[in-house]
Amino acid sequence: MIQQNLKFIKSEIPNNIKLVVVTKTHTNNEIMEVYKSGHKIMGENKPQELSGKHIVLPKDIEWHFIGHLQTNKVKFLAPFVSLIHAVDSLKLLKTINKEAVKNNRTINCLLQFHIATEETKFGLNKDEATAILESPDFLELKNIRISGIMGMATYTQNESQIREEFKNLKEIYSFLKQNFFPLDSNFKEISMGMTNDYKIAVEEGATILRIGSAIFS
Ligand SMILES: *Cc1c(COP(=O)(O)O)cnc(C)c1O
Repeated sequence: MIQQNLKFIKSEIPNNIKLVVVTKTHTNNEIMEVYKSGHKIMGENKPQELSGKHIVLPKDIEWHFIGHLQTNKVKFLAPFVSLIHAVDSLKLLKTINKEAVKNNRTINCLLQFHIATEETKFGLNKDEATAILESPDFLELKNIRISGIMGMATYTQNESQIREEFKNLKEIYSFLKQNFFPLDSNFKEISMGMTNDYKIAVEEGATILRIGSAIFS
C-alpha cells in the first residue's frame, strides 16, 4: 500500500514541488518501502529518532528535521541533516551555527511562522523575524543558510481558513524576500502543506510539502 499511496500523492503534485515523506513513528521496513520506490527525501520530528534512523538506513537519504528543536538536541542532527524546517529563535540559530562549525558544514534552515489559531503551535511573527534578521549577532552566523520559511495551518476542515493562513505565510515570505534576501537565490522555499491540506498548499505557492499519514495508511 505504501508504494501505491506514494505514487498517488506524487501524481497529485507538480514536479517542481519537493515532497518530504514524514516517517515519524514508522518502522525502518516501512521507510524502506518508500526508499525502494526511489524516493529519498524523508522527515522526522524527534532528534534522537532521526539520528537513530540515519545510522541504520541508507546513507543517500536526504533527512529533514520538521519538529520543534531544543538547543541541546542540535548536536544529534548537525553532522548530516539536510534542512531544519522549524527554527523559531535566534538562540536556536546560534546553536545550529555553532554545531555546524564543529562539523565543518553549512546547515540549511527555515524560519517557522505561527499562522494557525491554535496556541499550541510554535513559530515567529513578522516582527520577531525582522528583529532576528536585523540583529548584529545574526549577521555573524556564517555556517547557517536561511533557505525560506515554514508554517502549519490550523487543523480544521474549514478550507477557506486554511487557505487564508497559507496566503498569510506566502505574504510573509514575499515581505522577507523583498526586505532581507532580494539577491539571495537560496531564500526560495515555502514549506507548507500536510496530509489534510496539501492540495490547498500547492495552490497557494508551497515549494515543499511534508506528508506522512496519506502515505503510511
Ligand atoms: C507529522 C507532521 C507532518 C505530517 O503530517 P501528516 O498529517 O501525517 O501528513 C508534517 N509536518 C509536521 C511538522 C509534522 O509534525
